[in-house]
Amino acid sequence: MNPLSDRITSLPASATLAMAAKARELKTQGIDIIGLSLGEPDFNTPDYIKDAAIQAINDNYNSYSPVDGYVELKEAVITKFKRDNNLTYTPAQIVVSTGAKQSIANVAQVLLNPGDEVLLPAPYWVSYSAIATLCEATFKEIPSSIEDDFKITPAQLEAAISPKTKMVFFNSPNNPSGTIYTEAEYRALAEVLEKYPNIYILSDEIYEHINYGTKHFSFAAIPSMYDRTITVNGVAKAFAMTGWRIGYIGAPDWIAKACTKMQGQITSGTNCIAQQATITALNESPERIQFMVDEFKVRRDLILDLLNDIDGFKTNIPDGAFYVFPNVSAFFGKTLRGKTINNATDFSLYLLEEAHVATVTGEAFGNSNCIRISYAASQDTIKEALKRIKEAVTA
Ligand code: GLU
Repeated sequence: MNPLSDRITSLPASATLAMAAKARELKTQGIDIIGLSLGEPDFNTPDYIKDAAIQAINDNYNSYSPVDGYVELKEAVITKFKRDNNLTYTPAQIVVSTGAKQSIANVAQVLLNPGDEVLLPAPYWVSYSAIATLCEATFKEIPSSIEDDFKITPAQLEAAISPKTKMVFFNSPNNPSGTIYTEAEYRALAEVLEKYPNIYILSDEIYEHINYGTKHFSFAAIPSMYDRTITVNGVAKAFAMTGWRIGYIGAPDWIAKACTKMQGQITSGTNCIAQQATITALNESPERIQFMVDEFKVRRDLILDLLNDIDGFKTNIPDGAFYVFPNVSAFFGKTLRGKTINNATDFSLYLLEEAHVATVTGEAFGNSNCIRISYAASQDTIKEALKRIKEAVTA
């Protein structure tokens, strides 16, 4: 008999982390793997943020912090929300957590009962469905395709809503597609939700600053949505701070209070040094990290050029994040180097085994026609990876 709980037994492992672990393992075996599976900037955390962390250590920040974060950090988050998103929050509405992933898990835990339904516009980040499952909620995918720039319509949203729907998760810029919803598109979706006052909206904006042109718009900035939207953000992606583990929410105060209670029983306040460094990261102008965004844009254009040069990859132009999500269904049913490709998972594995390039299957993101390729890697790495992919699929 399996002594593990049903909860963990039924939980899928994170596909992004699993692929990264597999790539790491192959590398330790001496295989020259290029890892384009993980959404992780290859830059170092900027010096002005590192200096703030060193200062915090020397200032003896070594004790428990308040569970919901230092007051000064909450003030920095409030200033950031006002400056960048035109959102007004009070300290009681802010909770700082161990990464945006914990922020999302907290919110789901405090709002979802068994049997509640979460709507996930697809493609969606791999952990959304898993987090819903952990809460014994169900999730319903709302499909989109590359032809529509991976955006859902208000009619699709309305058709997906059922009496059990409790939450909808929006994520713009999107992981894995890079799609950004415009203000007008978000307002049109909000018009549908205005008719359903019992649905809560989680707006994951972790890729906010990795944006190449479409103005970022926060869902909570729509007045009718403010009281039931939880805005999630963090420093991992924009500030090259993935390992520092700082995420935060701005939410109705009763939801923030519940998240603090949840966190108080699971992790307590997050790492005190990382919190102090985040105060500096948020208080400084976003201009200071623009050089990374500019470089990501060059890489996006490079990878699109190289992909478009390979028969069988269908691409769109993602306007944010650092992923491309090409449709590779042209390869399904084909046999390459003796291996039959039936789906995106087969294709991603084929690229790992034959091209030694790690990507992630779209199936983990709720789209079985695509694969996700992260271009948070140097231009030379991207060139080498795409050269190998081209050779492997045209062999
Ligand atoms: N969010 C990143 C990704 O999608 C990091 C890995 C993870 O937490 O899923 O690759």
